[in-house]
Amino acid sequence: MAMTPFALSAALSTWGGRLYPASLVDTGAALVALARVEGRKILVQASVQAAGLPPGFDGEIRPATGTAIRLCPLTHENAVALRRLLPWAAPVSLRNRRTTIGCGDRLGRATPGHVRAVRQFAASPVLAQQSMRELTLTRRTYENVVDDVTFLVLQEGYRAGYGADGDHLKTLRDIGVAVDAGMAMITLDLTEKMNAAAENWTPAAVEAAFAELPEAVRRRVIDTYADRAFDVDGGVVTIDGLEARRCAVMYLAAMDFAGEAYALLQQRRGDAFDLEISIDETKAPTLPAHHLFIIRELLQRDIVISSLAPRFIGEFQKAIDYIGDLAEFERQFRLHCAIAKAYGGYKISIHSGSDKFAVYPIIGRTTQHRVHVKTAGTSWLEAVRAIAVADPGLYRRLHARAFEVLPEALKLYHITPDLTTIPALATLKDSELPALMELDAARQLLHVTYGGLLGDPAIGPAFLAALDAGEEVYYRGVERHFVRHLRALGLEAAG
Ligand SMILES: [Zn+2]
Repeated sequence: MAMTPFALSAALSTWGGRLYPASLVDTGAALVALARVEGRKILVQASVQAAGLPPGFDGEIRPATGTAIRLCPLTHENAVALRRLLPWAAPVSLRNRRTTIGCGDRLGRATPGHVRAVRQFAASPVLAQQSMRELTLTRRTYENVVDDVTFLVLQEGYRAGYGADGDHLKTLRDIGVAVDAGMAMITLDLTEKMNAAAENWTPAAVEAAFAELPEAVRRRVIDTYADRAFDVDGGVVTIDGLEARRCAVMYLAAMDFAGEAYALLQQRRGDAFDLEISIDETKAPTLPAHHLFIIRELLQRDIVISSLAPRFIGEFQKAIDYIGDLAEFERQFRLHCAIAKAYGGYKISIHSGSDKFAVYPIIGRTTQHRVHVKTAGTSWLEAVRAIAVADPGLYRRLHARAFEVLPEALKLYHITPDLTTIPALATLKDSELPALMELDAARQLLHVTYGGLLGDPAIGPAFLAALDAGEEVYYRGVERHFVRHLRALGLEAAG
């Protein structure tokens, strides 16, 4: 028999601890909850006798009057046991959910804010989402990413199901690592497997490379695509002979690789996964004809995808709004959506979706909310904003250090901020610091330098400690910011 929440709460308070009220779960035999005890977040379990405590957890049993209370540290082993005890705490495939929102969280601390925002709308969150680049820069692992979210969905009592995205993976080995950690979504980045340079090759060079392909492949490509027009809802996509050959040279090897990744996912997870194909990290925008070629070649290999991320016209720079021609974006975006609708109804995925408020209304109405929108750094920037509020001195050190580590970050991120627009810190009062997060150049500076900042021993640990001490401030900031995103997409309120 479980003890009462009141008795558990009273026992914790004698140790100076407190419960996160939304986290309380009664399993029948025991109470399970998240608590903060002696300054640390911890998993607590309580039963009238030790035999009633759930199996598989590792922790310290503390005697309390008439009960057994176990305090379990937030380790990987305890996360695994928690996911077994409460299956809703584990990531799931969201392939049947209409609207999905990628909530990348580099610090493993933003989930309560994400959950509180997403709950207000008809949308499902991908709460665990990280690229290999972000893992390296934050010194985290896929196990850390999934485990942090496991404990935080318990903290919020969020049982509606969440996704976990191994983002921008390029090798079968990395996919294996992400799947081992429980990631249910894989974003397969094909930029290294495709021949992007062939986009600009001369007809003669394309012809020469095409001639190297096996004869049966060449015949199939010509028969299927050359000089043909494909009707898609509200539009026509045409491919001439040269473009058909060019697509074959650019993409066929990458399509075969996608087949290997798909087989691996099927073998490991049956149908319980989401595969996203990403071709967004290329220099040139993805032409609708290329998108159509890619999806037809995927279907030809019996690969079922949940989403596809084209590279769109214009610039989707980190941390700031869309740069480009909105009318042309809308025209091309419509065609991408029409192709997705005609070939199985997968979602178009918007990468670097953070803060793209100008294109959100177009995205919302064109997709009718059948879409995946990915954000990542914007939740980190909310953490920086929370620090600017809570600890201006620490913010000043962090801001100065960001300029020093920027050259290193620019090797990994393409941004073009005008740093001269950032006022000198000495001219700003403490109360003016949070407003720097409204300034494009400052947002971009701080967005890309997280690796160097978190890795600085004088800044990283102090940053996380200050964030944890004011966690509610951070959650409220993330919630407010995400509500703004979800409203701009025109999403309906949750029913
Ligand atoms: Zn991307």
